[in-house]
Amino acid sequence: MYDFEYHKPTTIADAVKILAADPDAKPISGGMTLLPALKHRLNKPSALVDLGGIAELRGVKREGNAIVIGAMAKHYEVATDPLVKEAIPALARMASTVGDTQVRNRGTLGGSLANNDPAADYPAAALALGATFITSRRSIPADDFFVGMFTTALEPDELLVAVSFPIPEKAGYAKLRNPASRYSMAGVFVAKGPAGVKVGVNGAASCAFRQTEMEAALSANWSADALSGVTQSPDDLNSDIHGGAEYRAHLVIVMAKRALADAG
Ligand SMILES: Cc1cc2nc3c(=O)[nH]c(=O)nc-3n(C[C@H](O)[C@H](O)[C@H](O)COP(=O)(O)OP(=O)(O)OC[C@H]3O[C@@H](n4cnc5c(N)ncnc54)[C@H](O)[C@@H]3O)c2cc1C
Repeated sequence: MYDFEYHKPTTIADAVKILAADPDAKPISGGMTLLPALKHRLNKPSALVDLGGIAELRGVKREGNAIVIGAMAKHYEVATDPLVKEAIPALARMASTVGDTQVRNRGTLGGSLANNDPAADYPAAALALGATFITSRRSIPADDFFVGMFTTALEPDELLVAVSFPIPEKAGYAKLRNPASRYSMAGVFVAKGPAGVKVGVNGAASCAFRQTEMEAALSANWSADALSGVTQSPDDLNSDIHGGAEYRAHLVIVMAKRALADAG
């Protein structure tokens, strides 16, 4: 690890001020991804801005027809929060499958979404639920947030503050885990919500995406039968030692059917 400065501000405004003054400073939340990157010298920030002391980034609340979850909510909190469990049980179930017990007790919703790992679970849920990302300077719809592999619309001095998830009528999630890393080989989150049917896919490509052919089919008929004629092109899907693009394309269809069963 390289030397770096360490800051622990107690307000969003102070954290943003530090980040704006130093383009090489980086926020850190759970550290589950960033700390290993530092240890392997894959990242060399001049300063770390620890978000753990900022109360404004915490909490889960209901606002109208949405559940708003603070960026510093740990995966364990998302999995067990009574509001999330009641309003969006599929999101709680999904959070309960992230990593292992240690990761769920350190890693955060905001850190995962800001990191945008292609195999992370939350991006598919955010796309399918039509989430809105509330940052330290604006609101960003999920469709505009995920820009590419490990890249989001966030500016270097912009913090993810909370995510607002509209409460769906029905939602479900299924993924096939890589047996070694336990990350998603392909995961599908389906939701029927105020803005219609949306389907988010993770793990299969370099960035989570919406499967619009499935959305059209499920809008007409919310059942696994509707997916019989739907295809997933292997073009642009990942091919690696764990599985080829054709295999991942097949998994997307299978996981979508399982996600529908999960949604009920
Ligand atoms: C063994 C292991 C298994 C895992 N398995 C899974 C899995 O199955 N599914 C899954 O989805 N994930 C998995 N993860 C990743 C885990 O979910 C991490 O918690 C997550 O990727 C990063 O969250 P964090 O809070 O630790 O962020 P950090 O590591 O602290 O930060 C990650 C990145 O986000 C930035 N950042 C953090 N918070 C903010 C914010 N509020 N605003 C702006 N930028 C911010 C940081 O600067 C950094 O670039 C796993 C991780 C490990 C170590």
